[in-house]
Amino acid sequence: MSIPCDGILLGAGHNSLVLAAYLARSGLRVIVLERGPAPGGGLTTEENPRLPGFFHNTHSFFHRAITTTPWYRDLELERHGARYVEPELNVAMILGDGRALEWWTDLDRTAESFAEFSAKDATALRWWVAEFEPIVDQILTIEAQSPPLSPDRRRELLNRSRLGRRLLEIAQLSPVEFVRREFENDAIRAGLLFFNGLREIDLQLPGFGHSVPALLAGRHKAQLCMGGSARLADALAADIREHGGEIRTAAEIRAVLVRGGRAAGVELATGERIEARAFVASGLNPQQTFLELLDAGSVPHDVRERAAKFEYNLLAPLFALNLALSEPPRYKAADRRPELARAFMVILGLERFSQFAEIVSAHERGEIPPPVMWGACPTLFDSSQAPPGKHTAFLWEKLPYALRGSAAHWDAEKEEHARRMLALWSAYAPNLAEGAVLDWFCRSPLDTERRLPNMRRGDLLVGSFANGQVGYNRPFAGAGEYRSPVEGLYLCGGFTHPGGNITGLCGYNAAGVIAVDLGLRRWWPSRPVERALESVA
Ligand SMILES: Cc1cc2nc3c(=O)[nH]c(=O)nc-3n(C[C@H](O)[C@H](O)[C@H](O)COP(=O)(O)OP(=O)(O)OC[C@H]3O[C@@H](n4cnc5c(N)ncnc54)[C@H](O)[C@@H]3O)c2cc1C
Repeated sequence: MSIPCDGILLGAGHNSLVLAAYLARSGLRVIVLERGPAPGGGLTTEENPRLPGFFHNTHSFFHRAITTTPWYRDLELERHGARYVEPELNVAMILGDGRALEWWTDLDRTAESFAEFSAKDATALRWWVAEFEPIVDQILTIEAQSPPLSPDRRRELLNRSRLGRRLLEIAQLSPVEFVRREFENDAIRAGLLFFNGLREIDLQLPGFGHSVPALLAGRHKAQLCMGGSARLADALAADIREHGGEIRTAAEIRAVLVRGGRAAGVELATGERIEARAFVASGLNPQQTFLELLDAGSVPHDVRERAAKFEYNLLAPLFALNLALSEPPRYKAADRRPELARAFMVILGLERFSQFAEIVSAHERGEIPPPVMWGACPTLFDSSQAPPGKHTAFLWEKLPYALRGSAAHWDAEKEEHARRMLALWSAYAPNLAEGAVLDWFCRSPLDTERRLPNMRRGDLLVGSFANGQVGYNRPFAGAGEYRSPVEGLYLCGGFTHPGGNITGLCGYNAAGVIAVDLGLRRWWPSRPVERALESVA
């Protein structure tokens, strides 16, 4: 049976939810279809089935500057229950000798911490933050919040201003080159790269040298969603429903239907068909969208080829160890530095710049690299995620998807690896080996792909920035402005500009493009990127 609606969204990742919310508020009847049991994709919070009352954020946790995004404000997500905190000691890299490199929300405190390692690097930090703050505010933020310009037009506009030329100059470097050139201390270099690598940029790729100072200069840091990451998805879902939209879970999409060359609806795995009068928007990766869901005859041959060549990040897959605890991890280093007891993101095992080469080469060989782990104890900042007085914590490690050539090895080996991680963690926080752990479970890169098949090969960013897959050419040339080569079919997932992670900006930007194509009145403010770049000093 066919139920007509105006628009269908494939997958209920946060980008699809953001897009659906804007279009529902524009008066369209939208349906979001999700194969899993709840909307949100990477916004997942699971209750421990063995220990009710303990909640674990099994995908995203560190949400960067969410409260400053335009969609968080436009969609009134706080009215729908979303609430964020931004812990002051935002990131702490704890070294084996008990020292710690700290990133605070307050630049002065960060610079003080840098100065303990190198006075020269503390000065460089302040210099680069001052240099990049206007570039972030006047260029990079606006570019991320707008459909991408063609590379030629972008370069022409940036070349007109001093800030634009500065950005182009620094961008020519790779992050590794930038850090080597501008900072001297080994631990600081390693920390800066790792901190940046959390955004999963290919650290050796020229064209991304600006990403390190941009991250340092960003005024807002990692934030935590109170109640767990899934509460952000709940708030988005509430807004969609309030404006007449529908979200259907346990709805696996089998095919996108094309009629007269135009995307006209979908077929579910159950055989049910749903028709769309105006558009279909896909939050599913290019291979799923163009090769698996669309009939070969509906997609030009060259588009199928480009979709097939879409690449994933070698270094993005994560292995996660999740703990239910009777007390928070008590780091030995906190004896000397009590502030570490309230650190938000904690990095362990990172000491030297040269570890990057070792990690990359282990990933290329499909082997487990020397351990570098990072994570948090969410309940230090949000007691609602565990029973009274109890805690949860997790650590992640970047590990290869194809372990010794095959992801299938993970099922037999993941528990053993998790035990090794716990032993290492306990070396920094001995109470974890002294009875604080009530329960634990782990998830491998293969588990990520099984739960969220759009994160192919466990790539949590849904596609690398290499292979030209950036800006106007993300996911590939000819599909970079959220419009696909199939009429009526749009793209909105992390495989579009500005990329993966919880940013919501792929969905936000796609909403503007679809609104123009459908002739909808844009009810939300807009700031055209070309005009903004023309006015840069
Ligand atoms: C372990 C882990 C940790 C992470 N940590 C962070 C972090 O701290 N900070 C951060 O910013 N990001 C983090 N991320 C990355 C972030 O979660 C993703 O980049 C983001 O979720 C991508 O959003 P999206 O909207 O593109 O789609 P997704 O969140 O990937 O959602 C896509 C949805 O489509 C559904 N789907 C797939 N196939 C079908 C089908 N055939 N039919 C119907 N539905 C389908 C999936 O079930 C899923 O719900 C993490 C990811 C993982 C895995």
